[in-house]
Amino acid sequence: MVYGPKRELVAVGLWDPASPIRVKVLAHGRSISIDEAFFDAAVKRAAAVRAVLEGEGTDGYRIIHGENDGLPGLIVDRYGDTRVVKIYSTAWAPHLPHVLRALARHQPASRSVLRLSRRITGQARRVHGLRDGMLLEGEDATRRAEFRENGLRFIADPFRGQKTGFFLDQRDNRMRVEKLAEGKRVLNVFSYSGGFSLYAARGGAREVTAVDSSHPAHEDAERNFALNRQEPAVQRCRHRTRTGDAFRILDELRDRGQRYDLVIVDPPSFAKKVSQLPAARRAYAKLAAGALDVLEHGGTLVFASCSSRLDEETLVDIIQTAARRAGRPLREPSCTGHALDHPVGFPEGRYLKCFFANA
Ligand code: SAH
Repeated sequence: MVYGPKRELVAVGLWDPASPIRVKVLAHGRSISIDEAFFDAAVKRAAAVRAVLEGEGTDGYRIIHGENDGLPGLIVDRYGDTRVVKIYSTAWAPHLPHVLRALARHQPASRSVLRLSRRITGQARRVHGLRDGMLLEGEDATRRAEFRENGLRFIADPFRGQKTGFFLDQRDNRMRVEKLAEGKRVLNVFSYSGGFSLYAARGGAREVTAVDSSHPAHEDAERNFALNRQEPAVQRCRHRTRTGDAFRILDELRDRGQRYDLVIVDPPSFAKKVSQLPAARRAYAKLAAGALDVLEHGGTLVFASCSSRLDEETLVDIIQTAARRAGRPLREPSCTGHALDHPVGFPEGRYLKCFFANA
């Protein structure tokens, strides 16, 4: 419990002496007991928000989005019958059994996998005996998880994959890409396991070239294409992969005169801290210029940023500046935000921006 200067109750939360944010606040200005009933209510509320997704052919989505769902430092993602619980503070360790029981009631799954944020791995193991990638419930600590997103089939590695295995937050933007892809030559930069590539393929893209520095990510993308071969458009689409540094590959494609009708750029977060912002701005500017260099005149640019430190206005400004320098005025620019399973409860929570424009 946290009290204010007039001895009034300010908040109830979880104490984490190792974190810059010492208290993970679970209730403001009211007293609660942090018990199974509390977690049951929070999970029930969160599950109700996501209920519509199932009807859209989606059983891979975020069930708990941290403080935006009232549970700061806790993320829970669902991949079909597998759920991944990721904690960003060891303050969550003693409450995991309650959280799991609440999840079992509102979001049944046959396995639960624990992921730990990098910052807490040492302490979690020493003090609580928790390990990144350990199985909390169910059997089979190796099987990948298969799930559906808008009817497309994907596999994710919940034990070792980046984040919790897949970038679920881009689902709506991927849908938008599908609608733009008919007959196009597509370049998907920072493609990971091929999320955007598959949607472009189903949307009728002639070919998709995927660029990522991770060879295992490309292997997953190949597997995901194979899983969706029953879709005639996916079957017809030519899928190529290029492994290496995206900045270098963009330069090389430009020099070889390669041009694409639709270019997607979805880089990792370049600015996790304020101090990294200037370098991040330069990196985004270089990527925007590189993407425009290989974009056919009149083609579509899709450019995302998941850096919470970089706001939408700055991102749009960086892309506009690159476009002006390239003499490629942007037409019909628009920027999208968060999907319903990634609710935003406070301004800094708006980390994902995805910019669309023709140039
Ligand atoms: N667009 C993806 C998510 C991208 S995450 C999706 O929708 O699923 C960022 C990706 O960038 C990761 O797959 C990572 O392997 C890759 N990456 C990081 N740095 C890179 C670099 N310098 N060049 C190419 N790929 C890089």
